[in-house]
Amino acid sequence: MSESAGSNPIKVIIVGAGLGGCAAALAMHYAGFEVTIFEKIRKFDRLGDSLGLGENALRLLARWGLHDQLIKIGNKSEDMQIRRWNDGTILAVQPLMDMAGYIGHRGDYHDAFLERVRECGMVINMGHKVVAFDEDKPSVTLEDGREFEADIVIGADGIKSQARELVLGFKDAPKSSGYACFRAYFKGEPLKSIPACAPLLEKDCVNIWIGHDMHLVQNTLRDGEEFNWILTHKDTADIKESWFQPGDMDEVRRLVVGWDPMIVAAVEKTERCLDWKICYRDPLPTWVSRSHKIALLGDSCHAHLPTSAQGASQATESGAVLAICLKLAGKGNVPLATRVYEKLRFDRVRQAQLNGEDVRDRWHTVLKTVDDGKDIDPDDVKIKNRWLYPFDAEADTYARWDEVSSIVRQELASGTITPLFDPKVGPARKLVRYDAFGRQIQHDFVHEPAVPAPTAVVG
Ligand SMILES: Cc1cc2nc3c(=O)[nH]c(=O)nc-3n(C[C@H](O)[C@H](O)[C@H](O)COP(=O)(O)OP(=O)(O)OC[C@H]3O[C@@H](n4cnc5c(N)ncnc54)[C@H](O)[C@@H]3O)c2cc1C
Repeated sequence: MSESAGSNPIKVIIVGAGLGGCAAALAMHYAGFEVTIFEKIRKFDRLGDSLGLGENALRLLARWGLHDQLIKIGNKSEDMQIRRWNDGTILAVQPLMDMAGYIGHRGDYHDAFLERVRECGMVINMGHKVVAFDEDKPSVTLEDGREFEADIVIGADGIKSQARELVLGFKDAPKSSGYACFRAYFKGEPLKSIPACAPLLEKDCVNIWIGHDMHLVQNTLRDGEEFNWILTHKDTADIKESWFQPGDMDEVRRLVVGWDPMIVAAVEKTERCLDWKICYRDPLPTWVSRSHKIALLGDSCHAHLPTSAQGASQATESGAVLAICLKLAGKGNVPLATRVYEKLRFDRVRQAQLNGEDVRDRWHTVLKTVDDGKDIDPDDVKIKNRWLYPFDAEADTYARWDEVSSIVRQELASGTITPLFDPKVGPARKLVRYDAFGRQIQHDFVHEPAVPAPTAVVG
């Protein structure tokens, strides 16, 4: 522990040991708190496929002793190529550190997070499903009836969060986004003998083919040993929010007819895939229960589109910010901490979510406006995430604490908490502009329409 825990540390219960829960555990541990983690899964498998970790997260994780392990896991490619769907022409080249950061297998990153949590002496209570919350004590109750109390409960329980229901007071059902991803992850070796796609296996690479209302992201991991492709396409079928639903390879093959032979060859050779319906959730009006003692974090309150490449990174930032808020507010002042936390986080998270929509929409439409063969401005297809990376979530919390905590103190005294998102007005939305290097140069605040386009999504 880097800072004194004192004789009466803040007691934190974290529900869920995904990447968000683990990051929060590390942040709380380094702030000197006593952390108890409950995870419903008995043993984690190597689930998911490629996931990006940006410098904004790595800066924080490094402070918690988790850096070199993660860099080793990440894809070693320096750039990604954005290509035209049918002939593979390169439309833009962008450094990976400008777009997704380090791309690694989610399961490998998760293992490294879990190991670091355990190295720090925290116990992850596996196979412990939380079935009920008491927001006033606050406490959680497990399936076997045992109840555990703390000063704060953090709901890092993912996209199907039960804690979110308690916080909102209603079930926040997912909506179809109109898109789905077919995803496949497999050993790269069999592709090496196919001349058309052999170049993709020579060394780690990241390629994105963009077409009309579709894009396909391909990358290798472990120096080409493993191969991943993710095809995002229009899908209006009934939604089932699942990470494990099998996909129909015949449909995938139909979708890529006429695409660049390099990626078609890889798709042809693929035996199976998953079908992820990408679901929307409107931004939440609050991330904190009425008692102010249960706070949401990660996908439970701010899931991202895959094209945001920031789901795990923003969850990590949220862990850091909540820990600093608790430290500054003190054990007897959890409501102040949680309400400052949500206010500090909302705008930035929202912009990271919207970035994912922005790039998806540009990729899906840009070629509609130009004739085949005509050059496009490479900037039109680049991911505009660079401005997210220099941010230091801990330093920002210290810098803005006085200003935001004084507003929150007044709100708590008057009993009127301003919602993060007022459905009658729409959430404040920052419009960010960029210079030629992708640097953020301007922020304008506007309000989204009263019935906003849904944006908080699985990713
Ligand atoms: C199976 C899976 C595969 C994924 N694959 C990818 C991917 O390939 N690429 C990508 O970018 N993102 C992927 N994601 C999403 C990504 O991991 C998250 O966006 C990010 O890591 C933040 O996650 P989180 O910790 O908030 O939520 P999650 O990773 O969903 O973790 C939530 C945890 O809470 C646990 N939990 C839920 N309810 C309870 C309860 N009642 N009691 C105790 N524990 C509970 C869950 O078992 C889970 O371990 C995946 C997520 C999952 C769950």
